[in-house]
Amino acid sequence: MTWITEFAPTTEGLNACIDCGLCLPTCPTYRLTGDESASPRGRIAAMRAVDRGLMPVDDRFAGVMDLCLQCLACETACPSLVPFGKLMEGARAEIAAHRPDTATIGKRVLFGRLVGFRPALVFLSWLLAIAQRLRLTDVLPSSAAKAAALRPVPIPVPSTAGHEWLPEGEQVGTVAFLSGCVMDQWYSDVHVAVIEVLRTAGYRVVAPPNQTCCGAMAAHEGAAYDAARMAERNVAAFAGHDLVFVDSAGCSAHMKDYDQWTEGGSDLAVRVVDATEFIAGLIAKGALPAAVETTEPIAIQDPCHLRHAQGIIEEPRAILRAAGLEPVEIDPTGMCCGAAGAYQLSHPDISDELGRMKASQIVATGLPRVASANPGCEMQLKTFLDDGVEVVHPVEVYWKAINTRPVRQAWRALKTVPRRN
Ligand code: SF4
Ligand code: SF4
Repeated sequence: MTWITEFAPTTEGLNACIDCGLCLPTCPTYRLTGDESASPRGRIAAMRAVDRGLMPVDDRFAGVMDLCLQCLACETACPSLVPFGKLMEGARAEIAAHRPDTATIGKRVLFGRLVGFRPALVFLSWLLAIAQRLRLTDVLPSSAAKAAALRPVPIPVPSTAGHEWLPEGEQVGTVAFLSGCVMDQWYSDVHVAVIEVLRTAGYRVVAPPNQTCCGAMAAHEGAAYDAARMAERNVAAFAGHDLVFVDSAGCSAHMKDYDQWTEGGSDLAVRVVDATEFIAGLIAKGALPAAVETTEPIAIQDPCHLRHAQGIIEEPRAILRAAGLEPVEIDPTGMCCGAAGAYQLSHPDISDELGRMKASQIVATGLPRVASANPGCEMQLKTFLDDGVEVVHPVEVYWKAINTRPVRQAWRALKTVPRRN
């Protein structure tokens, strides 16, 4: 066996695959290439070969693993419950340990260090904000042009870490809030919307100051030791909080797996809630207002880290309905849009092809708006959609719908009616 880290794919996990091939039609890279080595089964076969000492961790192995989007559509389809995401993260950690080349070290610095170091991220965000104002992002070449699809970064660059928000009216509970890395500065509108919705439901919101990036990007890119370090820090930062609220699908999915990254992680993992599941639950309980009828259609896109990693499908739709919108399906299989973290940088051709496919599904609905609950997906969709199609977060449109004087007055009046036993 040639594995050298504690993160390596386990023989037990690899042997769970029964080679049935049911995952193949769901795999984007297999569908685009028709190549067995670009399928989940092919990737598992390569990992098994290394595990049995039949193949080294070489360039060929790295190429096979690197093409994977880590979308986890194969996990959803698998009847044998193969933990593919965990196996792939282990394989990437091994590649990084075996081949400390420039690209690997670069990824490690970017996703393992910079995103978790707030001053560096704030500095980069200032540069981005200035570049956006000077319209420099409009003239960037190729994949860097994705920056043009970002929301405008506010000046001064914001951060929620270390802040606290009191509830509107009587307090029903407290939630700890993950500020995140790019989400905190580049998608602060989403943070504002979810915090206001939580306050409306009577929650005090606390963003601990000593938290850091969740570590998902580091784990996906093979910077496993950095991912473990970030998980450790968040376990300490969120200690003592019953609920840890996360409004980015990629981050909530990763934090629900913290038991794999740190000793005390399992305790935090069960306290993590994704924004869409928590807010949909509050709406269902009558703890938040809901529209009585839907009057306008809106297309909906499922981020892989909600649909495949967490099985969260109905909740964003329920939030849209509560906002008076009728979700229109674009793809019942939930195929990846091609964003996939840093995939655009390593495999722009496949990323672009998947992005164009997803955009054409949205355009086919003829609707001017699509809802997506993940920042990476939002950026990818905006890159391939015309300016005429708006990409929104479900909680943002919900907050806009309920943040009107008539709805708020009616809601306050409803909350003050004494309950009868
Ligand atoms: S994670 Fe996605 S791209 Fe990777 S093997 Fe599974 S289905 Fe294919
Ligand atoms: S569906 Fe599961 S068991 Fe079947 S080939 Fe794919 S990973 Fe293996």
